[in-house]
Amino acid sequence: MKLFAIFGDPVAHSRSPLMHNSVFKHLKYNACYTRVHLTDGSKLKETFFALGLSGANVTVPHKEAAYAACDEVRGFAKKVGVVNTLINENGKLIGYNTDADGFMFAIKEFGEIKNILILGAGGTAKALASRFMQEGINTSVLNRSPERLAYFKELGCDCFTWSDFKIASYDLVVNTTSAGLKDEELPAPLALIEEILDNTSFVADAIYGKVTPFLKMAKGKNIICKDGADMLLGQGVLANELFVNHELKTSDIKLYMSKSFEL
Ligand code: NDP
Repeated sequence: MKLFAIFGDPVAHSRSPLMHNSVFKHLKYNACYTRVHLTDGSKLKETFFALGLSGANVTVPHKEAAYAACDEVRGFAKKVGVVNTLINENGKLIGYNTDADGFMFAIKEFGEIKNILILGAGGTAKALASRFMQEGINTSVLNRSPERLAYFKELGCDCFTWSDFKIASYDLVVNTTSAGLKDEELPAPLALIEEILDNTSFVADAIYGKVTPFLKMAKGKNIICKDGADMLLGQGVLANELFVNHELKTSDIKLYMSKSFEL
């Protein structure tokens, strides 16, 4: 039996085990998916091989550490330096990123998006900003601290911290910070969030499984919103295809992964 896992800190909230196990069970694929609470990202590679994993997902805050741990990085992950999916290919650790495509899938229903504000500048923000710029979307980034903004400046995004933020009009604002994940914090000070929400058509939060204070405020202003569930589904389907080496039909993977959301 093949063993897969998700690494993160925190990781107890992750729905990935349910999603992947639902696919394996219904499609009779001989595999099992578990979760590993990893506090030290530098131990990722040795833990992966010590557990005898065939593949894994990586979540907050280890996606950049996962990139560094790989023997080879493929596709979009190479461009962004952020890995969320790991495959054991003959004892070598191969890294991919399925977050950005998962997110593009999630926002399809919002129609044409030309201007986006990303809150946060971590691994998820990097993947999304790169993909948005690739799609020709004007992308701004607002982060608590300035250190992580260099990557986004190089990409051509308008970059701000809380103290120098200049508001514009957005089609979509995306929260990629972990504010609200295990606390009740907003991704930026209240006055800034008020101003931002008054200048956007749509809101998305990467966090799923709970209504974050940010999403709650957006809903209170009757803005069309979504949490991170569709993004989770999109990235999960793409990761599962890699786990099973494309042996299962994408439509079947999507069907049984979606079903796990009803559990
Ligand atoms: P990282 O640790 O790489 O980045 C976290 C970012 O959040 C940083 O920019 C950090 O700012 C900011 N931040 C953290 N706490 C606060 C706070 N209290 N106030 C304001 N900013 C804060 O995380 P990831 O990019 O890997 O993940 C981010 C979130 O996205 C997580 O909640 C994760 O669960 C979710 N996610 C969901 C997915 C899905 O499928 N739905 C997929 C991927 C991620 P600073 O630089 O100042 O420290």
